[in-house]
Amino acid sequence: MAKCTMCVDRVYNGLLPACAKTCPTGAMNFGDRDKMAALAKERLDKAKDRFPKATLTGLDDLRVFYLLADVPNMVYTYAKADKAPTPMDRKMALQKIGRSLKGLATEWEIVNKLAG
Ligand code: SF4
Repeated sequence: MAKCTMCVDRVYNGLLPACAKTCPTGAMNFGDRDKMAALAKERLDKAKDRFPKATLTGLDDLRVFYLLADVPNMVYTYAKADKAPTPMDRKMALQKIGRSLKGLATEWEIVNKLAG
């Protein structure tokens, strides 16, 4: 099993991520944040006809939005991320930054290999 790479090789070459490209129902979408936010709000308006408690998560603080048919806690305990679930000290912050930089370095390595 591997973690989602956001199809960095496809996106680098101007293609949609494979899941967004092949999703038969149009549930998966990918694009500029503003356009995706507008699409999400449009779909929320339509969903509210059938599901009055429908809501969007991630719109204010994440790069991935989910349209839920009910309030987040009815769907899954962690369906809505908290901005700051616990206080973070300097050591924790540096560990997070270190992990992010390590992941970024790995992605750059992949992109550079693909670019040839
Ligand atoms: S197909 Fe979708 S879920 Fe799979 S790696 Fe690409 S972006 Fe991630």
